[in-house]
Amino acid sequence: MLGNTSVLHIVRAGSDITYSSLKVIGNRILDAFHGTIKEFKLTRHKAPVVDSIDAYFLTKILHEEYGGHVLGITDADLKTDDADTFYNSIFGGKNPQNDVAVVSTKKLCTDQIDSVKAYDLFLERTLKVSLHEVGHNLGLTDHAAYQTAQDGSLCPMSRGEYNKFGYIGYLRAIIDGRGTDFCDECLYFLRKMHGRKHRFAKMVKDGLESAAGKKRFLRTARNVC
Ligand SMILES: [Zn+2]
Ligand SMILES: [Zn+2]
Repeated sequence: MLGNTSVLHIVRAGSDITYSSLKVIGNRILDAFHGTIKEFKLTRHKAPVVDSIDAYFLTKILHEEYGGHVLGITDADLKTDDADTFYNSIFGGKNPQNDVAVVSTKKLCTDQIDSVKAYDLFLERTLKVSLHEVGHNLGLTDHAAYQTAQDGSLCPMSRGEYNKFGYIGYLRAIIDGRGTDFCDECLYFLRKMHGRKHRFAKMVKDGLESAAGKKRFLRTARNVC
């Protein structure tokens, strides 16, 4: 479902990330989706502190509460109903029935955040998973990890095989390997669907076919965001 996506509500739903850090993330999302998302609003969702929450349920709550284009960021572990316990805890996901995506920061730091460097890495990861999920909100689909943007880093929509990397390896190889610029195919899609203009865009390749709506919930741990 694609409603008006030009205003993004970034909702802090039980997250420790500071307001100013979220503002940085919001501005970098605007930059990455230049011309498609024109504005973001930061909101704090009053929610009880929980260790884990059903991802689908959270998207429903946020949709009912805020409507429109929403990115929810939480500390809580995001659970899915996947029977395989290996896949039922996700970094992020998007509900194809609305324009709500959610990101969990719980597994984005592998060590203690005890230095500026560690915090910066944590924020970068949060940004990259957020870009991926917002990309889904805009109709982009996952694609193989070898697709790079023009700066040589992985496209934010890249994914790898979870089993191949394992959880820590996946964080380092795929999520850390992503940049904030999209590959030509994703740029083409955004331009075509949303009239996005991008300063790095120069080539047009085949468009993507959106798989949104095929699944009840796009779980990015199976594809691990
Ligand atoms: Zn791409
Ligand atoms: Zn994905």
